[in-house]
Amino acid sequence: MKMSNVMAINAGSSSLKWQLFKMPEEEVATSGIVERVGLPDSIIRTKVNGEKHERVQDIRNHEEAVHEVFADLTNLNIISSLEDINAVGHRVVAGGEYYSDSILIDDEVLARIEELADFAPLHNPAEAQVIHIFRDFLPNVPNVAVFDTAFHQTMPDVNYLYSIPMEYYDKYKARKYGAHGTSHKFVSQRALELMDQPQHSKVITCHLGNGASITAVEDGKSVDTSMGFTPIAGVTMGTRSGDIDPSLIAYLMEKEGIEDINEFIDILNHKSGLLGLSGISSDMRDLRDVRDENERADLAIRIFCNRIVKYIGSYAATMNGVDAIVFTGGIGENSVSTRRAICDSLTYLGLELDDEKNHVRGEERLISTPDSKVAVYIIPTNEELMIVRDVMDKIK
Ligand code: ADP
Repeated sequence: MKMSNVMAINAGSSSLKWQLFKMPEEEVATSGIVERVGLPDSIIRTKVNGEKHERVQDIRNHEEAVHEVFADLTNLNIISSLEDINAVGHRVVAGGEYYSDSILIDDEVLARIEELADFAPLHNPAEAQVIHIFRDFLPNVPNVAVFDTAFHQTMPDVNYLYSIPMEYYDKYKARKYGAHGTSHKFVSQRALELMDQPQHSKVITCHLGNGASITAVEDGKSVDTSMGFTPIAGVTMGTRSGDIDPSLIAYLMEKEGIEDINEFIDILNHKSGLLGLSGISSDMRDLRDVRDENERADLAIRIFCNRIVKYIGSYAATMNGVDAIVFTGGIGENSVSTRRAICDSLTYLGLELDDEKNHVRGEERLISTPDSKVAVYIIPTNEELMIVRDVMDKIK
């Protein structure tokens, strides 16, 4: 196959993260981020050969952000002209029930991504806008959408339906969609490689970053996941609450005089989780550093681990067993003590952690003992690589 420059784009409501890969070598040629898009003093960061370039200027919208990225690509001699970009992959948060795989973007796909804005109001509109911009700037370059929800489309109805009147699913597709699918797919596929591709397999993947989710993967397919209709559901996260009793929302809104439900949803998204519990920080490192002298930081970490243990237990139960557990994401890859605490509660599964092997950060590794009935792996995730692999697959 001829050498290609493939971009992976991750557009947020006020940011644009990107990487440029040389394919099929899977080498990152350069990467960058534009932050504070639409706010004063936006920051443009580009990294080439380990060297960081940074400038601050007002970037009014995503179109200007893309323009600055293109300027860096050519000015820093990463590519000689925009024609050297061969294909682009875009992370898209919500794919609804339409997409169980990545797809080459045409007018219809783009219209669907826009239509699904109801399911991801902060993400899909920005992502659709950035796709429009790439199509305008680079009309001959294929764009591929890689959905956060696609991997979870294999969940059976027993797991994706909520126990609410069925008409809400029939009328509005109200159901569990999950998220982090690209990461769960990447690490579960890698786990199966490390396990020598068993014919049948039951794997539980734990993506523990600022956002966190747990997925049950049976024979390579997602069968259940902890995030729900939106990413608020599931385990305790950096700033998200995870599962709560919905009646609490009505009760607290009345007590606190909050009239707009969106205000409360915002509290559940941005002021809860480790941050809300500890009152200190959403960042696991900050809490770890003070937990010995700060009871609330310690409590927040214990609740975080407790919810993960509960989800792992429930997935081991519904799959009727588990062959491997995978840790990934900033906390999963780096926090020796979090992995230790979680695995300490899973000895009933015959799981035995090897303490010495567990003493590692950010490295792919088996960390269970040879006698352990459940293999435990650390597998660093790489969503961008998964995106450009999907692009290569779709433009063949
Ligand atoms: P995002 O979901 O934004 O991509 P990351 O996957 O980078 O986030 O995860 C960020 C989390 O990882 C933070 O809570 C951070 O404290 C945690 N983390 C990173 N390094 C370590 C470490 N060495 N020990 C404990 N936690 C860590």
